[in-house]
Amino acid sequence: MSSGSILIKNGYILTLNPQRQIFRDGAIYIENEKIVEVGKAEDLKAHKAERIIDAKNKIVMPGLIDTHIHLAQALIRGCADDVALVDWLKKYVWVLQGNFTHDDGRVSAELCMAEMIRTGTTSFVECMIHSRYGFDGIAKAVEKVGMRGALSKIVMDSTGYADSADIMYPGMVENADECLTETEQMYNKWHGKADGRIQVWYGLRSLGGVTPELFKDVARKTREKNTHMTMHLGEVIDDVRYVKENFGTNLTGFARDHDLLGPEMIFAHGVQFEDAELKVLAETKSNIAHCPASNTKLASGFAKIPQMLKLGVPVSLGCDGGPSNNTYDMIREMRLAALIHKAVVRDPLVVSAENVIEMATLGGAVAMGIDDKVGSLEVGKLADIILIDMHDLGLTPSVNPVSNLVYSGNGLSVDTTIVNGKVLMSNKQLLTLDEEKVKHKARTHIVDLLDRAGTDISPKWPIL
Ligand SMILES: [Zn+2]
Repeated sequence: MSSGSILIKNGYILTLNPQRQIFRDGAIYIENEKIVEVGKAEDLKAHKAERIIDAKNKIVMPGLIDTHIHLAQALIRGCADDVALVDWLKKYVWVLQGNFTHDDGRVSAELCMAEMIRTGTTSFVECMIHSRYGFDGIAKAVEKVGMRGALSKIVMDSTGYADSADIMYPGMVENADECLTETEQMYNKWHGKADGRIQVWYGLRSLGGVTPELFKDVARKTREKNTHMTMHLGEVIDDVRYVKENFGTNLTGFARDHDLLGPEMIFAHGVQFEDAELKVLAETKSNIAHCPASNTKLASGFAKIPQMLKLGVPVSLGCDGGPSNNTYDMIREMRLAALIHKAVVRDPLVVSAENVIEMATLGGAVAMGIDDKVGSLEVGKLADIILIDMHDLGLTPSVNPVSNLVYSGNGLSVDTTIVNGKVLMSNKQLLTLDEEKVKHKARTHIVDLLDRAGTDISPKWPIL
């Protein structure tokens, strides 16, 4: 018996290996953080594991990878519903985030991670940590909780947003020196730490929020450090106007001229690209984090995912944030991604269940630059694995578990979450976070935050 060994048996295993094999009555043997064997239970060597997990009636699959989230927005879930984007930012989101304390930042990160683990996400890309959320505290929380995460420090040096000048809430403004110094410090302290689970990236704020010189500087620093960068691009049509009016080009032209294209970049949203630009994304292997819930709720439009997949653009999935989604449940995100494009192009054959599962696993691993380590269940890869209970009412009967998971599922059917060979949730119970405590803290902190920010969030109907 090896210490730190786990045997998962009797499962319906979606391997996501190159042949996309499924093992019915399958088993996986894990030693320490790695997958040692995977296959039909009857073909596996007789392992004596320290822990045996019975996966009868459960899907066993790679952990889900969310490539665009805001950890700080879990606390402000539901604080900007049914409003237009500029109001959404100026009256609610920036005002609330601009009043965060480091404590709020940590409480929000823990709430967000609790929900992610509960709903089967094992890795995530946090796209912009402002200094007022407390980067160090958030990194410590990730270390303790056991998830795998890329933490991007926000980089900005201008108070605009797309083609609107000077609209940033004062509490959200940072200057370039502060941003770059903190990224440097946090990179030195955290990159590759927590058994390799934490990465530190650059989180470029947006067009209009970063000057051309700073874009170029960050692109160079990213490559020097062999890390990654991410930014919101083409979420709103104003982005297209901004690059046309100021630089006489389109989104990919701007990105090319500022060294932003390449596999080390995740563009979040990417709704506004013209058809001809998709080829550029494919050729440069620039990643897209597709955020269908956020794009529909904020009425941004529809990313051209069917065309992107056809051309080979690397596409992954993102839940975005608490005021834009309003969940961090990747199974619900997969469902929406599989549904909306069919209606947009009026073709039920585009963006299949298999396509969205690939986006949520392998696609995410590629976007994070860790596809040699996670994203599929194969010998030698790290054990980032989830089990989903297919006996849940809404999933019954389950004749084709693959499409059933996507079209009928939600994250609350996830039963077990394992990251780096460590069980973070078993029997739907979180093991590295106290769920009740996390929820209690969130309820208390949001009341104080709304009070401090002077923001009123009430239903439109009379409350008696
Ligand atoms: Zn976002």
